[in-house]
This record gives sequence, C-alpha cells and structure tokens, in this order.
Amino acid sequence: MLFPAAPVVSPVPQAEAPRDCPLCPRLVRFREECRAEHPAWWNSPVPAFGDPDAWLAVVGMAPGKQGANRTGRPFTGDFAGELLYATLLKFGLATGTYRADPSDDIRLDGALILNAVKCLPPQNKPEPAEIATCRSYFEAALAQLPKVRVLVALGAIAHAAAARALGLRPSQAKFGHGSEAVAPDGRILLGTYHSSRYNQNTGRLTAPMFEDVFAQAMTHRDG
Ligand code: SF4
Repeated sequence: MLFPAAPVVSPVPQAEAPRDCPLCPRLVRFREECRAEHPAWWNSPVPAFGDPDAWLAVVGMAPGKQGANRTGRPFTGDFAGELLYATLLKFGLATGTYRADPSDDIRLDGALILNAVKCLPPQNKPEPAEIATCRSYFEAALAQLPKVRVLVALGAIAHAAAARALGLRPSQAKFGHGSEAVAPDGRILLGTYHSSRYNQNTGRLTAPMFEDVFAQAMTHRDG
C-alpha cells in the first residue's frame, strides 16, 4: 500500500506545517532517514484530521512510525488508532468504516484529531524543545477552531502540551486518567491514558476506561 500524496484535507489548512518543515533539526534528520528507508510512506508533518466545525479535539502526542508517519493521517494504521476510531464511532463522533487506510470512508463529525508534535520522533519520544517549537502549529490550529470546547489529550505529554497552549499552568492541569481542567477561556481539558499497545496489553487502559473519558467529554458537548 502506497501513501505518497497528501492523504487528507486538513480542517485547519492555514495552521499546517510545510511538508519539509525545518524547525526541529533532530526530527528533520529522522524524517530524511525514514524517507530513504521507506520512500512510499508519508514521512512528513502529519496534518490534522476531522471536522472543521468540531466541538471536541482529540490530542495525540506525535505520529506513530507505522501509523500516521506511514499513512499521513493521525492514528491511522497503528494499534492505538483501532481503539480511538472505534470509540469515536461508538459515540457518534465519526461515520463510515475505519480501515486503517486514509482512503477509507471514515469521517469525523463534531470531532477532529491534532498532534502536539507533527513529526515522528525517534523512539516515540519528542524532546521538550521540539514540543515547544511545534506548539506554534498547535496553537494556530486551536485559534482556527473557535467551536472546540473540549480537548481530550491522550497521555501525559499531549496533555501537558495542550494545557500549555490553553494557558494552564502545570499546577492547574495535573494529568490523570479522567482528569479535568478548565482553561481561562472556558475550554475543558480532559486526560486519558494513551491508547497505545503497551497500555492496552498491560491493562493500564481498557476500552471501557477509554470510553468513560469520551462519555465525560460528551457531557460537555452543549456547554
Ligand atoms: S515537529 Fe513541528 S515544528 Fe518540528 S519540524 Fe515537525 S512540523 Fe516543524
């Protein structure tokens, strides 16, 4: 399966990074290595995916190597995406069928997915400077999404990045599964353990636990 072209139309096109964004040297080097190794993969900053009129933003940390970095669509093609898309479908936040392929017909309805860091980091670990640098894109995306009232951050790193972008100090937004914080502008930040293979295989996160956080988000849908 080849994914050489732009995989999705971003709901926030004015907030997307150029395909060769040069701002994080370590990630640029890794990107070039991946392009040499897997020339048919996306291997570029991953655009947001979903509904431009979303009220809910799912926030991931960074693209997975075999997932978004390969396919070009957030959480698409890796283990973590299976539970995420199943949950979005279950709560009526998506329609269609998820087939782990950007050419499938799944569409988000009232939701979108953003990553705190848009490029694949080595060992799946972005450095603090990279998170800080990419925050400009994250904040630009949020600025173009005035209808987003609730953010669900997957994992502590995404949560910290989202909290910062929302103007929350760490003491005001402590991460936990089911944690909830209110930003100065009234937006609500929820935390969930990441839907990673490790978390699911170790039982740290189960599907019902994940769904509980989305049920919590749904209670805030209408303000
Ligand atoms: S992580 Fe963000 S800021 Fe850094 S190179 Fe990629 S798109 Fe640019």
